[in-house]
Parts: sequence; C-alpha cells; structure tokens
Amino acid sequence: MPVLVMKFGGTSVATLDRIRRASKRVGVEVAKGYDVIVIVSAMSGKTNELVGWVNETSPLYDAREYDAVVSSGENVTAGLMALTLQEMDVPARSWQGWQVPVMTTSAHSTARIEDIPPANITAKFAEGMKVAVVAGFQGVSAEGRITTLGRGGSDTTAVAFAAAFGAERCDIYTDVDGVYTTDPRVEAKARKLDKISFEEMLELASLGAKVLQTRSVELAMRYKVKLRVLSSFEEQSDDAGTLVCDEEEIMESNVVAGVAFSREEAKMTLVSVADRPGIAAAIFTALSEGGVNVDMIVQNISEEGHTDMTWSCPVDQVKRAEKAMADAAAKEVLQFQTLIADTDVAKVSVVGIGMRSHTGVAAKMFDVLSKEGINIQVITTSEIKISVLINRKYMELAVQALHDAFELDKAS
Ligand code: ASP
Ligand code: MG
Repeated sequence: MPVLVMKFGGTSVATLDRIRRASKRVGVEVAKGYDVIVIVSAMSGKTNELVGWVNETSPLYDAREYDAVVSSGENVTAGLMALTLQEMDVPARSWQGWQVPVMTTSAHSTARIEDIPPANITAKFAEGMKVAVVAGFQGVSAEGRITTLGRGGSDTTAVAFAAAFGAERCDIYTDVDGVYTTDPRVEAKARKLDKISFEEMLELASLGAKVLQTRSVELAMRYKVKLRVLSSFEEQSDDAGTLVCDEEEIMESNVVAGVAFSREEAKMTLVSVADRPGIAAAIFTALSEGGVNVDMIVQNISEEGHTDMTWSCPVDQVKRAEKAMADAAAKEVLQFQTLIADTDVAKVSVVGIGMRSHTGVAAKMFDVLSKEGINIQVITTSEIKISVLINRKYMELAVQALHDAFELDKAS
C-alpha cells in the first residue's frame, strides 16, 4: 500500500472536536487506499504550559527531565486520535517515539533524528492496522532517554517519517491554508503560493516565516520529500494548500517569491578594535561560546590600524553578547572602545530562486526603500535572498512597499 504522512499541528488538535475533524480527514485518505502515518503535536498551548512548569520548578533544569516533561503533550493527542479513529471503525494504534523507535542524538531539547527503523510499524500495517498515530517532537537517545527535537519539531518528525517510509507525500495540516508571499497580517494583499521550491521555503523559514520548522524543510530537501502545507479547517481538494517541491516542478515563478521579516533583531557594534589577523576570530568565538547566534556581520574600513565590527543577533541575546565581550576584554583577548547595542531594528528580506538568473533585484529593493525614506543599516545577500536591517518602526512599511514593487500580489 502507498504510505501517506499527515501531520496535525497544535491548533488542529486543540479540542476533542478538532481531533474528530482531523480524524475524519485521515479517514478520507484511508478510504483512498493509503496506509497513513499521522504525526500529532500537543494541543495548542500545552507545550508552553509544560515548559513553564519546568522553569518554575527548576530554572537551571536538567535537560533530560525537561524532555521527559515537555514531550508528554504529544502522548495525549496521539492516544486520543487513535481512540477517535477506532470509534470511526478505522483500525488505528498510537506510538510514542521510543516505541517506533525514533532514534535521536542525545542533545536533549534540540535532538536530531538519526534513524527510524520502519519494521515495527510496517508489521502492524501488514496485520491490518490502517493508521499509525505517532507522537511528534520526541524520540529516544542511544542511552534510552526520551529526547525532544526543539520547538516546532513535529514538522521534522513528519518529514523524517515520510523519508523513512518512502511516503508519497507529507501533508502538514495547520491553521493557515498554505505558504503566503508574506504574512497576511502585515500585508493584506499577500497571496497564497500554489508551489514553492525547497530552497525558497528554507530561506523563508529561517528568515522568520513560522509555518514550518526550518529543520523539516532541510530534511525534505535532502530526501526530496514532497511537502504540502494546508489548512485543517477547510474542506480540502487534492490540490489545496501549497506544495513545497523541487524547483524543476515549478514551471513559472516570479523572480521574487516572498518577503520575510523578523522583528526581534538587534544590531551591535564594537567600536575601534585592532585590525589584525585573529581579531574577527576572537570576537566571534567569544560570541558563539557565549551562546549568541550571530546573523549578519559587517567590518568597516580601518583607520590607523583600528576598525569597527558590527553584527546582528536576536534581541534577547544582547545581554549575553555584552557579557561575552566584557569577559573577552577582561581577559585581554580583545580591546575595544565601546560596544553599542541598537535593539530597535528589524530584518526584512526578499527571497526568490529567480535571483540566480535576474540582475537588478538588489538595486530595485534599495530603491523602493529609499523612496519610502527608509535607511538601510546593514545588508547581506545570498544567491537567492537579500536581507536588510532597518529601524523597526518602518518594518511594516518596508514589507508592504516591497510586496507592491515586486508585484507579489500577482501570479507570474
Ligand atoms: N508541541 C511542540 C511545540 O509546540 C512541537 C510541535 O508542535 O511541533 O513546539
Ligand atoms: Mg508548528
């Protein structure tokens, strides 16, 4: 039998009623002749509650016990979904990660899936089970402890199962009806895309579009898993939602596929550091050891052997960065005049595989921003994206102006 993976996010299993609605969707696919693997999230809000309990009990918690607690939300929805399916006369069984087993690394709270041996579930399908309901987000380490995959991790569980079972497709049911050219809450003219390439989706996910966990897109790209993002709240046809696929499958697309943004950015500048080999290494080693995720980096032209180094990072990591730089200065690894933190910036990016073959996208982007009077503070580019750091109060304006200028409201 062909295998289909269906993943239901937290809002899609938030109540018993919604679990029933999701189960009906599963029943439709079973009736088409699929063996279905359902991956479930915890009921929406549950994981946050569990994380809160852990923090309240033990602020510097043991990550093994964090995983033991926060993985439990998925166990509840897996069991409830299996029961609901059974009530509908669909042969179903629930599986926790360790029962499959979903083998992961031992990096508690950010574990990576290493292997999903399909034998146990396949044997049950052979006995007549039609649906395996698997708790997402969790696995088991070689030491036999429960692990979790990082917030949003059940998307990754779903893609990993699709790869392990050679599934025909991996359908991600969520509270939006697909992937949009930008967030419709910021730009009302945002348009749902029928298809988007893995590369574009990967950029959009890592740039702040929250529909899919970044890691799940990486996996889908590596194993060429066809991913579909669709709403669990609407009656669905076979071509509903957005298909995330190989770029060869996309016949025509705009040069720019989407505009992404992230509000929670900070820009930090180390003023007057020595300009000699080893200084950048010293700065960014100290930052990385201090747990700071640096994104953009700019080094100024140097004057009299000194230069300024600027980087961006998530705004909630500014304190850590300040500490890392102060420690490095105290240990005389680094000397600098001051460290300036601007916590009032946002990152806006345009993404599209068309940029590989079209010139002028950057020029157009900068022109659009200048016409709105928006100053660009830092720029970075990759083959298929251009990102700028701007003052946060202009973020919405920038997104809307770029969406207009690249005519993202119109299909190509
Ligand atoms: N329940 C977990 C979370 O909220 C995993 C997931 O839903 O993807 O992060
Ligand atoms: Mg999610």
